[in-house]
Order: sequence, then structure tokens, then C-alpha cells
Amino acid sequence: MADAQHIPLALKYRPMTFDDVIGQEHVVATLRHAIESGRVANAYLFIGPRGIGKTTLSRIFAKALNCTAPNGVEPCGKCANCIEIAASRSLDVTELDAASHNKVEDVRPIIDAVEFKPAASRYRIFIIDECHMLSNAAWNALLKTLEEPPPYVRFIFATTEGDKVLPTIVSRCQRFDLRRIQTNDIVSRLEAVCAKERIQADGNALLAIARGADGGMRDALSSLDQLISFKGSEIKEEDALGVFGLVSRSALETLAASILAGDTAGILKAIDLFESAGKNMRRLASELMLHFRNLIVVQALGPETKSLAATPDQIKVLAAQAAGVSAGRLFRICDELADMEDKLRHVLSVRTLMEMTLIRCSRIASTATIEEVLKLVQNMKDDPGASIAAPVAAVRAKVEPAPVPEPVPAPPGPARKPVAKTVEGERRSEIVNDPNLSRIMGMLGDAEIVDIKEG
Ligand SMILES: [Zn+2]
Repeated sequence: MADAQHIPLALKYRPMTFDDVIGQEHVVATLRHAIESGRVANAYLFIGPRGIGKTTLSRIFAKALNCTAPNGVEPCGKCANCIEIAASRSLDVTELDAASHNKVEDVRPIIDAVEFKPAASRYRIFIIDECHMLSNAAWNALLKTLEEPPPYVRFIFATTEGDKVLPTIVSRCQRFDLRRIQTNDIVSRLEAVCAKERIQADGNALLAIARGADGGMRDALSSLDQLISFKGSEIKEEDALGVFGLVSRSALETLAASILAGDTAGILKAIDLFESAGKNMRRLASELMLHFRNLIVVQALGPETKSLAATPDQIKVLAAQAAGVSAGRLFRICDELADMEDKLRHVLSVRTLMEMTLIRCSRIASTATIEEVLKLVQNMKDDPGASIAAPVAAVRAKVEPAPVPEPVPAPPGPARKPVAKTVEGERRSEIVNDPNLSRIMGMLGDAEIVDIKEG
């Protein structure tokens, strides 16, 4: 059943118009406006990670500039110019891959060609990909042309490493930073492609593909292609997970829940399971980081925000988890995870580092803080008659989910040692001398206390 004429999905569903371009609205809007208003700059610079459509966008822009029958600002895709540009054989549009052609000799033909008016189009356009690879000599040769090009010449530069492009060049271009495409946008695009191709893929399978593609639409479509040739027309989550060594969405969420609940055993079991299943642990670390980042976003902006790179199912879980933890703790956990990502590059035992870090995170999530204890003491000072059972229960719930026993008024006694050890200076004497402290400590039971600042 293999089709000898099989066209890769990434090619078949490559965007043909500005409308098709996903996730780069800010760039597309500016380019459209430039064409509409007839104010097309001499040179453009597209910066962004690989596989997000820099070359595709360059070609669409070139087509839009040279199309003989445009539909508004959109290229028609049917005229000779559009067809030739799409096939990379337009005489008026020259593409140069600077990754392999970076010497002065390589740009010389461009400098010579600039002298000639376009053969059959409005503009003579040069698209230079991976332009950061051009040698200094090559840039110097181009610079004069770039400064004062003939009115019919336009340059489009693309690069994955904008920082490596010389400032004198950047300042002569209109610069655009293309974004990684958001996971949910990739998922919707994959859904549309599957519908057209009559592929049955479950939502979590597409999510796994999108996660694996890391913001690149081309990689996502290539992976879908690979899975179709491997599995046929029905694709399940575990197929996609296997390809990327990814942990399933639910396993990732369960691990996050274990951290938030202070469940050390749960964390260790999960890591053991992932490692024996050959999961990519570095990948897991960065996904866990993203999960906790999303928790902070949900807390700050609510679950409806567009800043969440998550699907509706993920957002439900995120909202529930975010409701049960304080912002200060989340920040601390993210700090630990960021630290871990840093160390992962050098460490020999990824597993050990991960276990230790996640257990530390779980302690941050679940221990009562000095701030909380102080607040309870303050509450009792402010309003000695009020019941503090509920606030104590709230603090304790994070430590262990067991119900809090009815508070029994405890006789004033000496403060417990763990507190004295973790508190310093004035605050220590403030707490230690407060007669309410021992009562609160009694109600907190065996709760561990750490001194962390609430954000
Ligand atoms: Zn056209």
C-alpha cells in the first residue's frame, strides 16, 4: 500500500499564504501592512529557532512581492512567478544557504546580479538563509549593496542565531523575532491535517507529538509522518511517547501532584519507573519546569490566559493544582528546577540529581513555613477570642492530608527546638517568647517547619 509518490506531510501542508502561517501573527501583520502601504523595506531579518517557518515565510513574502495576480496582499499561488518561486527556480528570486556557502566568492554572484533589473517581476529578491554563517569578508562585500540597493532589490535574511549577526547588518534590516509555535497551536494544526488525511489519532497522541517537536511545526509534521508509516491510520498516545522517549501527560501530572503533596515515595517510584522505561530524563526535567511555570501563570493570570502553552485538558489539571499551593512555594520550586536543568548538563547520574531535587521541591511544597507560623501567632495576638482551628488546618493540610484533631488548649510551655533552630534574631525571640506558640505547635503536630519567605 506504500505510495511511491508519497509527499511528506511537512511539504504537503507547508503554508502557502500569510493566512496559513501559524503562531507568527506579529510578523505576518507587519509584512502585510508593508505590502498594503507600499512601504517595503530594503532588507528584512527573520530570527528564530529551526523548523518554525523562516524559509517558508521568506518565500511567501517573496511571492507576495512578485505575484502578478495577488489576492489582496496574498500571493495567488498560480501565476508563473508564484509557481517558480515555490519551486525555487525563479530567475528573480535567488536563495543562498550560507551554512554551506559563506565565502566572498559565494556572494559575488549576488553583488553582480544586483546590477540587473528583474527579468519578469517587480523585484529582484535575495533570500539568504543561516546568514550568521557568512564570513566577515562576505558581509563586507555585501554591505555596500545593502546600504544603497537599487530600487528593485530586496533582501530577506534568515537565521537561527540573531546574536551572531553583526550590528551593522542588523541596523540596516527590519528585524523580526519569530516565536516557537505554542503546543496547543501545533495540536490544532495536527488535528486538521489528520482529518484531511483520514488518520485517527487520539488527542494525547497529538499532544505528545507537539511536545516532542518543541515549537517546530515542521518537526511535528515529520513525526506524524513517521508515526503513520509505522502505525498506519490509527495513532495512540503510547506510540507517540515511545518515539520521543516522553513521559505521558498523566504521568507528568501525577509526578507534579506527588511533589506538591510532599509524597517522597511517589516521587522515587515514578523516577524509577521512567528510568527503567528508558524515558528521556533531561526532557522530563524541562517538561516538569514548564508544568510548574504554567502553575505560576494560572495563579497569576487565571486559567483563561493565552500565555498558557497547554491544551484544555491540561489546563483543568493545572487550575486544580495551582489552587492548592502558594505562589511563594511555586517560585521556590521553579528555582530548584531551573538549578537542576543547569546542573543536568554536567552531572553523571541524572537520576540521583533528579531524585534529590524533586524531594527538595516536595519539602518546599509541603512544609509549614515560619511565615505561616508567625501569621498564626499574630492572629492569636490580634484576636485572642477567635478560633484558629481553620487556619491551622489550612497550614496542616499541606503537610499531611489527615484531619486535624479538635484543638485542646495546651498549657504554656517551652518552645519546641526545631523552631528555635530555624529562626534567627528578633524573629526568634518574638516567636519563642509568645505564649501562643506552643499551642499552635501542638495543633500542627509533627509538621516540619522551614524558614522560607512567602512571595
Ligand atoms: Zn501569483
